[in-house]
Amino acid sequence: MPRSLRPSELEAYLDEALPPEDMARVERALRGNPAYVEQLVTINSRRDAGVHSLGEIWRRHRLSCPTREQLGSYLLGVLPDDTAEYVEFHLHKVGCRVCRANLADLETRQAEAPEAVETRRRRYFQSSAGYLGAKR
Ligand SMILES: [Zn+2]
Repeated sequence: MPRSLRPSELEAYLDEALPPEDMARVERALRGNPAYVEQLVTINSRRDAGVHSLGEIWRRHRLSCPTREQLGSYLLGVLPDDTAEYVEFHLHKVGCRVCRANLADLETRQAEAPEAVETRRRRYFQSSAGYLGAKR
């Protein structure tokens, strides 16, 4: 577990007021921990409405876009809980259009090719690095 984020760091992150390496560190922490995302949402909702929408911030940074493979695994229900939560947040609260389009496309493909789904499912379980933030 990396050291925890201070609320002031999240505030500064929202303001894009951190040096690049700290922005990156906060992003990594957000990816790895849905609790920080909730905290970010709370901070953001306390702020003046309309100044920053969370969706806007997300789109600007594209920090939470899952990979296509992760979206596929999400559809199959094989993501670890915290990662699945994160993907849900990204799709439904942030409402990322890119990922929603990607997901719709994947849904169509999976409906057409059940045996490809099986292969993907097997591949996923054989891989120890199938989720957010993992290195290959
Ligand atoms: Zn996205």
